[in-house]
Amino acid sequence: MSGTKDFPMKIAVLGSTGSIGSSALSLAYAFKDKIEVVALSGHSKLSVLADQIRCFKPGLVAVPGENAREYLLSKLNGSGASPQIVLGPEGLVEAAVSSGADTVLSAIVGAAGLRPTFAAIKKGLKVALANKESLVLGGELIMPLADGLLSPVDSEHSAIFQALGGKLKNPELKKIILTASGGPFYGLTIKDLKEVTVEKALKHPTWSMGPKITCDSATLMNKGLEVIEAHHLFGLSYDKIEIVVHPGSHIHSLCEFIDGSILAQLGPTDMRLAISYALSHPLRWPLLDLKDRLPEVAKGPYQPRDFSDFEPISLSKSLEFYPPDRMTFPALALAEAAGQAGGTAPAILNGANEEAVAAFLAGLIPFTGISATVAHALDAIPTEPLTSIDQALDVNDQAREQASQYIRSRTP
Ligand code: NAD
Ligand code: MG
Repeated sequence: MSGTKDFPMKIAVLGSTGSIGSSALSLAYAFKDKIEVVALSGHSKLSVLADQIRCFKPGLVAVPGENAREYLLSKLNGSGASPQIVLGPEGLVEAAVSSGADTVLSAIVGAAGLRPTFAAIKKGLKVALANKESLVLGGELIMPLADGLLSPVDSEHSAIFQALGGKLKNPELKKIILTASGGPFYGLTIKDLKEVTVEKALKHPTWSMGPKITCDSATLMNKGLEVIEAHHLFGLSYDKIEIVVHPGSHIHSLCEFIDGSILAQLGPTDMRLAISYALSHPLRWPLLDLKDRLPEVAKGPYQPRDFSDFEPISLSKSLEFYPPDRMTFPALALAEAAGQAGGTAPAILNGANEEAVAAFLAGLIPFTGISATVAHALDAIPTEPLTSIDQALDVNDQAREQASQYIRSRTP
């Protein structure tokens, strides 16, 4: 991912059946001359994974276990695609580092993304990073090894990266301002929030994303995780990372420089823009031509996302900004405090949040119970210095267990 690239880049798409993964594959379909897919991974939606394998014919595919492998083999019978199929967490690491990929798109959701991301960086591979949990849990260990290897996919971080011309560092940068849509519940009171439903939490006003991050956007935990991600990625202290609520999501984030200039990046609310820049920077690929590639897609064996929905941003939209409401949405302040504490605190935050979000989505706790559960875990588990990836993942699991006990103790 630099000015002088060898195309096509050989890419491993980890989490290919998800929202980011399938958006990335629609780019791979449209830009076959630039992207060759050499590995895929999926944890569920295995029939989608089988379609993706038929279309892209990767040499290696990672799935969770033996049943998934057998299912895939039966679906692929007679298709002409016969990838090596590897299993479990070790399989994800193999897909990252043993598939011949020069670039890994890390788009698994949750802590499961950390090991393959770390392995790819350790091997010196380029990593386009959507899995923010990798930096939340292991940023202190990843960044010292990541010089020139990491490019952000998260839209806010991509906005900063774009404003810095495809770089993570600029000595003239004074601070960054991350924009937050506010999610579907911005403006509600704590009393209102106690009553909100799962269905409403999963209706994001501006972005279409997987369920976990959509729920995190509603609590503002997503913005909190992004503050920690930005701290590591751009090497900025927390007092140099600001947040504004910008409900339209037209501006994806801003950089303020030492002379008072502020550069913003605006664009369509379509993650293909950020994924594409993570792969192409400092160049840009012609996404505005995606629609012209639609007839070719319609004839193909696999139906990636419809390119006709890629709409350029209209500048007639209004640009409104508000301060974030940390009292009504305490998850943001919890994440900022955990980030500042450092060490294993972000792993405690993340693990407890993963468990609490799953419990909310399963109807076990109210929406406001998510941040209460996270606050409990942060109080109950002491923070330690971070020394290894294994430790980060152990602490994440421990926090999940602590959160689960807390939830059970409150569920009739
Ligand atoms: P998603 O739920 O749509 O997809 C997740 C992918 O990970 C799927 O392929 C799933 O099969 C796989 N997966 C789930 N659990 C797994 C496990 N235990 N082991 C291995 N694979 C597993 O999620 P998404 O919305 O695409 O988000 C992916 C990552 O990108 C997350 O870290 C998210 O925070 C980040 N991100 C997403 C968006 C977005 O627009 N969707 C934007 C910014 C950042
Ligand atoms: Mg984001």
